[in-house]
Amino acid sequence: MMRPGILMESKKILLIATGGTIASRHTEKGLSPQITGKELLGYIPEAKDFCRIDVIQPFSLDSTNVYWKHWVLLGGLIREHYEEYDGFVICHGTDTMAYTAAALSYLIRHSAKPVVITGAQRPIDLPDTDARTNLLDSVRFASDVRSHDVCIVFGGMVIAGTRAKKERTKSYDAFSSINYPPVAVIQDRRIIFYIDDKGHDTAPVSFSDALNPKVFLYRMIPGSNGSDLDALMDRYDALIIESFGVGGIPDYGDSSFREAIRKWTSAGKVVVMATQVPNEGSDMSVYEVGHAVKNAYNIPESYDMTLEAVIAKTMWILGRTKNRTEFRELFYTSINHDLLFLPEI
Ligand code: ASP
Repeated sequence: MMRPGILMESKKILLIATGGTIASRHTEKGLSPQITGKELLGYIPEAKDFCRIDVIQPFSLDSTNVYWKHWVLLGGLIREHYEEYDGFVICHGTDTMAYTAAALSYLIRHSAKPVVITGAQRPIDLPDTDARTNLLDSVRFASDVRSHDVCIVFGGMVIAGTRAKKERTKSYDAFSSINYPPVAVIQDRRIIFYIDDKGHDTAPVSFSDALNPKVFLYRMIPGSNGSDLDALMDRYDALIIESFGVGGIPDYGDSSFREAIRKWTSAGKVVVMATQVPNEGSDMSVYEVGHAVKNAYNIPESYDMTLEAVIAKTMWILGRTKNRTEFRELFYTSINHDLLFLPEI
């Protein structure tokens, strides 16, 4: 019998290096990604005990500069190499890692093979770095037979790709798993699974290569004026409104937000309600200020999904369809653990 965390055979892993702090060096202009993927591997010689690793380096960027085109590129690389490897590890900057993890969760569905995204708060060549632990944990997790689908491995935690949020800019436990337990934790080289569900999803892996980036995120502040949204309507196919608390639309006597939602929806655009509060999610039915708008315009809301997941999911769905009924169906389909609250459609 195989003991948890003890691996029986050497797995084949593809390391996809993309830059980030993990691969950065100090320069006169500040930290910049300069350490290659091959060099990163040199810092984790122990990995040879349980896996063989090939490396590719499609780009080397501070993840501040990573956006939807890179997500499509990464999804395409994994599709191209999917049959050759048992698991994938993407080294990535932490700043936009949660967005990349969410996007890849939609671009690569039902994957029986793990796609692990990792990085670090300190460069790998510093003595007090978290990078070596994170990278070694990641290849260990990617080599484990129980692992699957897209996730982030960071700070000893394995977080479903749709549930991560960067909540700390400096500490080693930068990421939290929002509204969902971590999939696993990794302590002293042992992987302890909290969600051990390999094989429950029997659908074959499926890849998408289209995202529609015409998504605008509007963060409300007290006193915002909904008519500001008029100018954006021609440029975007979807509007995500980050409102307050469980969800409400303010009315300062001019109904400007209701009017904006009416205009966007009657022009065939998607409007999604989300909340600025990271934990516990939205429920627009609770207060009169949310209930009335939800009923009048029948707009979908984020419920327990993270904002990063809502943004990536909206781009992904609009890459497939602009039909509002189909949008709603896909938006309320749970993908890679992104949504627990399943409303009636
Ligand atoms: N600015 C860096 C990046 O996102 C931060 C990091 O990797 O931790 O690439």
